[in-house]
Amino acid sequence: MAPHPFLTGTPLGLLIDGGFVPAADGQTLPSHDPATGEHLADFARGQAADVDRAVAAARAAFESGPWPRFSSAERQALLLRLADLVAAHAEDFALLDTLDMGSPIRHTRGSVAMLTDLVRYYAGMARGIEGVTATPSNPAMFACTVKEPVGVCAAIIPWNGPLWASILKLGPVLATGCTLVLKPAEDASLSPLLLGKLALEAGVPPGVFNVVTGLGNEAGAALAAHPGVDKIAFTGSDTTGRAIMASAAGSLKRISLELGGKSPNIVFADADLDKAARMAVVAAFANSGQVCSAGTRLFVERGVADDFAAAVAHHAGALRLGNGIDPATDLGPLVSARQLARVTGHMDDALAEGAGAVCGGERLSEGAFAQGFFFPPTVLSGATDTMRAVREEIFGPILAVLPFDSEEEVVARANATPFGLGAGVWTGNVGRAHRLGRRLRAGSVWVNCYNAIDPAVPSGGMKASGMGREYGKNHLEEHLETKSLWIATD
Ligand code: NAD
Repeated sequence: MAPHPFLTGTPLGLLIDGGFVPAADGQTLPSHDPATGEHLADFARGQAADVDRAVAAARAAFESGPWPRFSSAERQALLLRLADLVAAHAEDFALLDTLDMGSPIRHTRGSVAMLTDLVRYYAGMARGIEGVTATPSNPAMFACTVKEPVGVCAAIIPWNGPLWASILKLGPVLATGCTLVLKPAEDASLSPLLLGKLALEAGVPPGVFNVVTGLGNEAGAALAAHPGVDKIAFTGSDTTGRAIMASAAGSLKRISLELGGKSPNIVFADADLDKAARMAVVAAFANSGQVCSAGTRLFVERGVADDFAAAVAHHAGALRLGNGIDPATDLGPLVSARQLARVTGHMDDALAEGAGAVCGGERLSEGAFAQGFFFPPTVLSGATDTMRAVREEIFGPILAVLPFDSEEEVVARANATPFGLGAGVWTGNVGRAHRLGRRLRAGSVWVNCYNAIDPAVPSGGMKASGMGREYGKNHLEEHLETKSLWIATD
C-alpha cells in the first residue's frame, strides 16, 4: 500500500551499511495511526539474517574505514551537522511521531526542540573525553588511563518517544566513536528511519549507524543474543529487560537498562497546593500516561487529600482529548489496541478491588473517538497500596490518590515497590525536601517540580527500573572502556 502523503521522504527499508534495503526475506510490517486506524506505511520486518548483516557492518565500520580515524573534533562537527538537520526537519519528525504513536503535535514539536539541543550537548561531550594520570607507588612507573570506545553497540527502544529514544542512543555512540545497530519498536519505527537518513546526510560513514526495524521476538531477540555486539542498551518494560539481560549474559555483553516505574508523587499540606495539583496532572497524564516516570501513585497528606483529589480531577477534566495532529489536543490516543486492553484491564481490576473513579474510568469510543484507542485521564479514589493498579505499571492515564499521615509512613510506602525510577515531593519545608530527597529510592527525585530533564543531568533507575544512566557525563562513560597504560621509565 502507498505510504501516507506526510511520509514521503521517510525511508522504509532497513538501514544497513549506509543504504536502505528490504529485509532479506522481503517481509514488511504495517504502521497505523492510533487516532484513526489509518494505514500509514509498510516498513521492513527484519529478522536474524538482517541483524547479522547490520552487526557485521557495524563491526567493519568500527574496526576499519574512516570512522576509527575521526578525531574528536570531527565527531563533534558531525554531531553539530546532525543537530542542524534534525532542526531543519523538526516538523517532519513531529508529524511522524504524532501519526505513528498518537502523541499530541504540541508535545512532539517540543520534544524535537529539546532533542536538537541534546545532540548539540553530545557534540560538546565528544571533546571532553579524558583519562587520568595515576600515581603508582613505584616511582619508576608511569601510569595513566586512556578512554576508548567500547565497540559495537546495540540499542532496543520502546514506542513512547521514538525520536527521543533514538537520539539518546545515537548521541553518545557518535560522541565516543562507537558504532550502533538500533532496533526501534514495531509500533513506532518511522522517525528512527528518518534519523538514519539524516545521519548519512550529516556525514556519518556507512555502517556506523544501522537501523533494523522488526518485531521484538525476532530482530530484537537476535540482536540481544548476538555475539558480535559489545554493549546493549535497552529501554522498555522490565519483563523484556530481564529477557534481554539473560540473553546478553550468553556473550557477556556490557548492558544498560532503562525500564519501567511506578513512581510516587508526594504532596504535603505545606506545599503550594495549586501548583502541585496542576503538576500532578502533567506528571501522571502527559503522553496519555505513556511515560516511564509517570507519577501514578499520588500520595497526599490526609487533611488535604479530598480537596486535592477534587482539584486534580478538575484539571484532568479540562484536558482536551483528540487526534494528536490537532494543535489544540492535550492528550492523544494510546498507541495500540494492545495498550488499550492493558489499561482497561487495570481499570476493571481497580473497580473490582473496590476503588472508584473521581473522573474518567471508561474507554471513549463514540464519534471522533470511534476508530482510535482513547482512554480519558482517570483519578482513582479509595485505592490502597495492595491493589494491582497501584502496584503494577499501567503505562496509561490512571493515577491513584493515596492519603498518608506522616513523613515516616509515606517514605516507607513510597519505597515499597520493586521500581525506583522517579519520585516527586511537594513541600514548603526545605529540611523535609532534603530529607526525602535522600531517603526516596529513585534515580531522580524532583522537589516542587516533576519530570525535569536536561542533557547535563543523569537519568536512570534503581532496583527493577534499570541500571546505568543516560544524559550527562555518566552516559558517555557507559560507552567507554578504561584502559590502564603502564610505562616503565627505568
Ligand atoms: P517492551 O519491553 O514491550 O518493548 C520495548 C522494545 O523491546 C521494543 O522494541 C520491542 O520490540 C523489544 N522487544 C520485545 N520483546 C523482546 C525480546 N524478547 N527481545 C528483544 N527485544 C524485545 O516495552 P514497550 O511496551 O514498548 O514500552 C513500554 C515500557 O518501556 C514501559 O515499561 C516503560 O516504563 C518503559 N520505558 C522506560 C523508559 C526509561 O527511560 N526508563 C523510557 C521509556 C519507556
